[in-house]
Amino acid sequence: MRVRRLQTEPADAGAGTMEKIGFVGLGYVGLTFAAIIASQGYDVVGVDIDKEKVDSINRGVLPIHEEGLDKYLADVVSKGLLRATTNYGDLADRDIIFVAVRTPSRPDGSIDLSYVESAARSIGEVLRDKKSYTLIAVKSTVIPGTTRRLARIIGEVSGRRPVEDYSVVSNPEFLREGLAVRDVTNPSRIIIGETDNRGGVILEGFWKNFYHKLGRSPVILRVTAEAAETVKYASNSFLACKISFINTIARICEHLPGCDVLDVAKGMGLDPRIGPHFLRPGLGYGGSCLPKDVKAFRAFAEELGEDPYLLDSIDKVNETQPLRVVSLLEEKLGGLKGRIIVVLGAAFKPGTDDIRESRGLLLARILAGRGARVRLHDPNSKALENARRVLGDTVEYASSLEEALQGAHAAVIATDWPEYGALEPSVYTRLMERPLLYDGRRIYDPELYSSSGVEYYAVGLGRP
Ligand code: NAD
Repeated sequence: MRVRRLQTEPADAGAGTMEKIGFVGLGYVGLTFAAIIASQGYDVVGVDIDKEKVDSINRGVLPIHEEGLDKYLADVVSKGLLRATTNYGDLADRDIIFVAVRTPSRPDGSIDLSYVESAARSIGEVLRDKKSYTLIAVKSTVIPGTTRRLARIIGEVSGRRPVEDYSVVSNPEFLREGLAVRDVTNPSRIIIGETDNRGGVILEGFWKNFYHKLGRSPVILRVTAEAAETVKYASNSFLACKISFINTIARICEHLPGCDVLDVAKGMGLDPRIGPHFLRPGLGYGGSCLPKDVKAFRAFAEELGEDPYLLDSIDKVNETQPLRVVSLLEEKLGGLKGRIIVVLGAAFKPGTDDIRESRGLLLARILAGRGARVRLHDPNSKALENARRVLGDTVEYASSLEEALQGAHAAVIATDWPEYGALEPSVYTRLMERPLLYDGRRIYDPELYSSSGVEYYAVGLGRP
């Protein structure tokens, strides 16, 4: 793999003329950026292969749940600043094209690059007859070396010359679902990984101008494409490591009567070298990024001949974390067959309808597989709909908490939605046949719950 030297030349003034923006992939990342960039007066066209999604966007209706994005979308569509299409040809006049298609895991955990490669081929076809220069920025999370590979695909398909006719840069994304609007308008950093200097200069200029309009000036780091790609994986693996670390400590605390992992995490977090963030114990990390990124990085390290001990352990702790509550329920209920168990939370975290790798879904699947009657609830009806598409009739779906808890033998908090945090213990004692509650996200006060008739267990809480 050829690694280029760090580029440090500043952006030139002419970079601000890149006003026609294209997006390929209008999911959580692509659509959030497309709508917010359009809101600053840029002319944005987005391509997606999902016709239903495209139609919904063109009606100004958000096809996903993302806090605050609906207003942006309705506004920019009504002003004609954002248009969605299934036709790649509509990208022909774009100055910059961002690629934000999915990069899922293959069954062996390695990354599936077929979507980004297919997008690169389609972009190559668009560039074939184009006379002016185009910058392609890869926002999708891809293993090191991929951006350079996509540049080659685009060159082969289009027959155009790199640098003169097009450049491809890596521009990894760090937004958090549920907080995407905040993260896009106020990012922690912008990483630009270039395969040539021209591309880096132009993208730096674009982001400077865009954030200037918002009154912000985030740190911009320009590095090689390989370094940028690695920053993304290293960051997500580190965050996942912190979660698996505190879950490991939680397991130890559970053996120590009176020891609460929350106190331990607080004590650790006061050390400025450690910090308090991402030390929340729970059922493990889920979502569309951390699980697949740790697995993909692990597979990549192995491919390079490196033994991925640490990445393996992070993943193993996460995969086994939900099994602990299954064992506890089995023990306390004397088996799971026919027991009504409520899983509270289908979304992988609050504020989203995304159920990918959600711990709640995983738990529901395991419990149902062991003969329990599982009732799944989520305050977000879209998340519950998404869950139904995946789990079908293997579980029951409750649209209200009353319906979920009525006559149940146990309940597990799988997602820390504020709606669950606001519940009084009496809701559980009144509705459930046996008010056995497992707080898998540590949203309740153990003293209050243990003293009010609830059979309360929690991750990382030492048991007598
Ligand atoms: P997503 O699944 O929500 O959206 C991807 C979109 O791409 C879908 O609408 C799909 O129909 C479309 N698509 C697939 N193939 C296409 C093609 N060939 N041409 C055009 N459209 C195509 O995915 P996402 O969550 O937005 O993630 C996108 C990328 O960003 C991934 O690589 C992910 O790892 C990364 N990322 C995601 C997040 C996050 O929080 N979701 C955060 C940072 C980075």
